[in-house]
Amino acid sequence: MPMTNLNAQPVDLETLRAKYRMERDKRLRTDGIKQFIEADGEFSYFTDDPYVAWIERAPIVRRCEVAIVGAGFGGILTSVKLKDAGIDDVLMIDKAGSFGGTWYWNRYPGLACDMKSYVYLPLLEETGYLPPRNYASGAEILAHAERIVDHWALRDKALFQTAVTEARWQEDSGLWSISTDRGDTIEARYLVTANGPMSKPKLPGIPGIAGFKGHTFHTSRWDYSYTGGSPDGGLTGLKGKRVAIIGTGATGIQCTPYLAEHAEHLYVVQRTPSGVDVREEVATDRDWAASLKPGWQQELINNFNALTSGGMASEDLIQDGWTFLFTRIAAAAQSATGEDALEQIILAGEIADAEKMNEIRGRIDAVVRDPATAEALKPWYRRFCKRPVFHDGYLETFNRTNVTLVDTDGRGVDAIGETSFRVGEKEYPVDCIVFASGFEVGTDYIRRAGYDIVGRGGESLQAKWARRFTTFHGMQVHGFPNLFLHQTAQAALPANFCHGLAEGAKAIAAIVAHARKIEMPQIEVTQQAEDAWVAHCGDVAGNLIPFFEQCTPGYYNLEGKLTQEAAQGFGYGAGAAAFFQVMDDWLGRGDFDGLRFFAS
Ligand code: NDP
Repeated sequence: MPMTNLNAQPVDLETLRAKYRMERDKRLRTDGIKQFIEADGEFSYFTDDPYVAWIERAPIVRRCEVAIVGAGFGGILTSVKLKDAGIDDVLMIDKAGSFGGTWYWNRYPGLACDMKSYVYLPLLEETGYLPPRNYASGAEILAHAERIVDHWALRDKALFQTAVTEARWQEDSGLWSISTDRGDTIEARYLVTANGPMSKPKLPGIPGIAGFKGHTFHTSRWDYSYTGGSPDGGLTGLKGKRVAIIGTGATGIQCTPYLAEHAEHLYVVQRTPSGVDVREEVATDRDWAASLKPGWQQELINNFNALTSGGMASEDLIQDGWTFLFTRIAAAAQSATGEDALEQIILAGEIADAEKMNEIRGRIDAVVRDPATAEALKPWYRRFCKRPVFHDGYLETFNRTNVTLVDTDGRGVDAIGETSFRVGEKEYPVDCIVFASGFEVGTDYIRRAGYDIVGRGGESLQAKWARRFTTFHGMQVHGFPNLFLHQTAQAALPANFCHGLAEGAKAIAAIVAHARKIEMPQIEVTQQAEDAWVAHCGDVAGNLIPFFEQCTPGYYNLEGKLTQEAAQGFGYGAGAAAFFQVMDDWLGRGDFDGLRFFAS
């Protein structure tokens, strides 16, 4: 199928597919997610909180109706929905020093959301806040989390700098007993886990990493005491310093321009290039703002979700780099006819994808002056194989004389020495290494959460899930009464993560409110309902595999090892739009089919 790219180079899909396969194959490794090092033990300092001083306190003894592990958007939105349903006795427990979750931890320079602020920031209408720009910075998002907290008077419902170490079901009392690293004793009728799916930083397993004697930190714990400055930049502490940043994903591309501005020399170490599309940040359109009618935000959120997760939407209200491709696919779906209609739609999607990626590669040629650097920065995979990223300053960074792209051609860094890193035969002396190497995905849930949950009969969730990953709607587990999980496996994995959290919070509040109404406070999913949901998830799990098999490795496809079995522990295979429909239908029926409610 001949077509023309923006470089005016004729390409055809067969050639492109072959190139994508070649780029994928040279990155596939046998160790998959095991290539990464856990930020524990000798590496635990990578997870220390650099933002808030540690406050000593005596252990507390406390009883509450709902304990929520996590005070990010998951914990906050659950508290909001519970409060709206008349359930106010809530306690959020978080390792962090304050609210915000991922937006508390990630404060690196240039941090910003890559989807429209009107879609991403929850509860805009309810809080009366309209973002001043189409994209929000990390600081604005953190401030919005605090705004929600104040609006719903949740400030005194949190216990910070406290890590849950275990939650244990007590059959006699029908309560969860929650232990913490502060020696607290907390009892709760309901336990909600809102730990976040990508909250544990990971490090690349580069030989010699432990022996580096220079300065080092992970982007999710930015060390401003070393770099100087703030999330707005001004990293004057880097004057005279040779810095390496390892990782060019969504995080790496956002902070690289800020490092480049102040380091004596910056080495951007690349294993796989990101596909960097235009961002076009602008002030909120006043006329558009004036035209908004009540319900506008949910309409935008639903429209974004429908377009990006296989739902149906007749128009694109978002019109950004996320929805562009799906809009093209939806248009193809309207005109596709005959027995091969599905093939026509798939082909139209592939062509639109190729055009978008050609546009992205063409932009690199247009911006980056050195042709070899430009060539090395080009991503060769389909748009949604990796997190799509948007930036209007990253590529320009490579025109600076103090910046070197160290392209490893898919191999990664070969070794780290006491004062340098090595790629191939070349040694690069550096004073500081910044790890923009991402977060654990696909490792055991309990390892990422940092605590086990012990249910009925003393069975741990870790042990149960080691046998087989099973849930009901991704949210409840047989043998674990009154437990609700906010997580993405066998549940929605939407691009707009806050949307999934809000829907989960809505369901939790509805179930708990029902239990109170009928005065049957104990809730447990039946074995039969759990089995049926797991079987259904198995039926749809395979939907993801054909697309991700052709992708270059990354956390989206478990580093190239997304098997049918592994996909069971991934997001609902029919897509987030379908999942929300399942949940809406289930909640709408009002009988909570599959759950057993009983008195304590
Ligand atoms: P990622 O996992 O996306 O990226 C990790 C980077 O480290 C990749 O470039 C990876 O290369 C590289 N890497 C890993 N091992 C090595 C090695 N041995 N040598 C060299 N490079 C290596 O993490 P991010 O922190 O960038 O992003 C994680 C997620 O956080 C995003 O996908 C998104 O969900 C979220 N995020 C959201 C933002 C937003 O705007 N909403 C902004 C920033 C992050 P390779 O690709 O080859 O594996």
